[in-house]
Amino acid sequence: MKRKILWQNQGVKKGSAVVRVQTLARAEEILALCNKYGWKVIVGIEPDKPEDVSDVERLLTPRATVTDKPKVGRNDPCPCGSGLKFKKCCLKKYEQR
Ligand SMILES: [Zn+2]
Repeated sequence: MKRKILWQNQGVKKGSAVVRVQTLARAEEILALCNKYGWKVIVGIEPDKPEDVSDVERLLTPRATVTDKPKVGRNDPCPCGSGLKFKKCCLKKYEQR
C-alpha cells in the first residue's frame, strides 16, 4: 500500500515552500529549520522519489550570500590558499557583488 504523508507547520497557506524528502528524520530537520526562520513549509515524505528541497534552498540562498564574505583583512593571506594577499587575489570577487 502506498501512503503519502504530508506534514506542515502552523498556519500554512498557499504560497508556502513545498518540499519532498525520503525520511522522517529529514522531514523533521526541514521543519525545524523552517520553524526557526518562521517560514511556512509543507513537507511530503515519499521514500521512493528523489529528495526535492529546492523551495527551502531558495529561501536560504539570499541569507547565505549576505554572510558569504570571509572575515579577512585586505593585507591578510587570501583564504583560498594561494599565498597571495587577499587584496591581490580574491578580494575583487567579493566586491563584485
Ligand atoms: Zn584567493
